[in-house]
Amino acid sequence: MQKEFEDKLKAFKAYMQDIEYLSSALSALYWDARVCSPKNGLHFRGEVLGFLSSEMYKRQTSSKMESFIDYFQSLKEADEITKAMTDRARREYERSMLIPKERYRAYVVAVSDSEAAWELAKDEANYSLFRPHLAKLLAFNREFIEYWGYEDSKYDKLLDYYEPGMTVEKLDTLFTELKKAVITLLDRIKSSPKKIDNTFLRNDYPIDVQRRLCDCVLKRMGYDLDAGRVDVSVHPFTVTLGNNDVRITTHYYSKEFQSALFSCIHEGGHAIYEQNISEKLTGTMLKTGASMGIHESQSRLYENILGRSRAFWTSFYPETQEVFPQFKDVSLDDFYRGINAVQPSLIRIEADELTYSLHIIIRYELEKAIFDGGVSAEELPALWNEKYREYLGIEPQNDAEGILQDMHWSSGNFGYFPSYALGNLYGAQFFHTLKKDMPDIAQRIVKGDFSSLNDWLKSHIHQHGAVYLPEELVKKVTGEELTVKYFIDYLNNKYSDIYGF
Ligand SMILES: [Zn+2]
Repeated sequence: MQKEFEDKLKAFKAYMQDIEYLSSALSALYWDARVCSPKNGLHFRGEVLGFLSSEMYKRQTSSKMESFIDYFQSLKEADEITKAMTDRARREYERSMLIPKERYRAYVVAVSDSEAAWELAKDEANYSLFRPHLAKLLAFNREFIEYWGYEDSKYDKLLDYYEPGMTVEKLDTLFTELKKAVITLLDRIKSSPKKIDNTFLRNDYPIDVQRRLCDCVLKRMGYDLDAGRVDVSVHPFTVTLGNNDVRITTHYYSKEFQSALFSCIHEGGHAIYEQNISEKLTGTMLKTGASMGIHESQSRLYENILGRSRAFWTSFYPETQEVFPQFKDVSLDDFYRGINAVQPSLIRIEADELTYSLHIIIRYELEKAIFDGGVSAEELPALWNEKYREYLGIEPQNDAEGILQDMHWSSGNFGYFPSYALGNLYGAQFFHTLKKDMPDIAQRIVKGDFSSLNDWLKSHIHQHGAVYLPEELVKKVTGEELTVKYFIDYLNNKYSDIYGF
């Protein structure tokens, strides 16, 4: 019995390893297409990506995979990793197998058309060019939800893909409380007599100097550049090509101090997570983040809780002033307040730390209305604008700065947005526990010691990859279920200090 188990496990891992090889090749090509492919080569590149994806799909849904899943699921006492690996393979298998193959193929084509239409529609700020494509993708997703089956909420099925175990019921509770707290805080900030001038953040910042500063920050915060690299792309992203190769990208703007730096810190957070996952998990498909929300918790913890903290800048500001003389007469305090200024805005990716969650809650409420409330593509722009007016007090002047701004829906990624706000909640809760274990964490950061923080995150979160489901991981690390309490406390403390109330 033991021998049979060991042989099967070895075969299962070898089979999974092949899928990981394909996944690595796909990631390399994806990276290449966005970083350095010549424009005219992209079409053929698309064909290669399509071919490799279908090879991967075949393996994930093969009868061999089914027999591995059946065998390992029937075992009463498998170890934690084998169990997690089987569960993950089963989730992927069922999700793919329940959709008729020809419907899935038609969907892939529809997504590719939709992405192209979205780009054009965004350029022309004209939603009507994208609307029929969006309507088609919504219809496909509604159809798929029927194949998968659902209990209370159809939208649950989409949420669960990015955040296993997450439901509308849970999110409604979390987000209602979060929305109330953020809007209350925003009102207090708006009526505070203290105004923040951060015009010094828009000046001339030579790109080569920005690049050196970004590399220096990344290195010191723990990103291993011997197992990664930083490139330039239109939108920043992180991609894992395999063991010891986790790459990030950013975009430098010569007149913007914050954009490239904070995107590097953000992507660096994702990358450090991936670099720290235990090599033991190779060949299990678990060498990845526990969920999109947990992944975002790491990037947002580095970017905001750490990267926008006074302690972080006490450590980095002298060097920053040295390379950017325009900060010579800006005090550390003014700089700190400047990078944390709150200003409701229309574009999610440019939002400040406080109002960011409202951008996400708006998208969550709309997706819920689409899948559980039957709202159509036609009705969306008006609803979008109405929510911006209600929660943020501003309204888009055109669709490009409104409903067309994000690419997620054009790629069929419905249910993804909540991960960003969940990342804020998980991150604050993890950091609260970290501070209990290490009460002098701020002093360590001031001294430029990031290894205590990294070691803690690695041993409690990173090394485990996707062995635990998000809710298991949060419970294991913090001893509690996910709550909004710590994030709200963090926001209240931070902004009452900055805005003096
Ligand atoms: Zn991210």
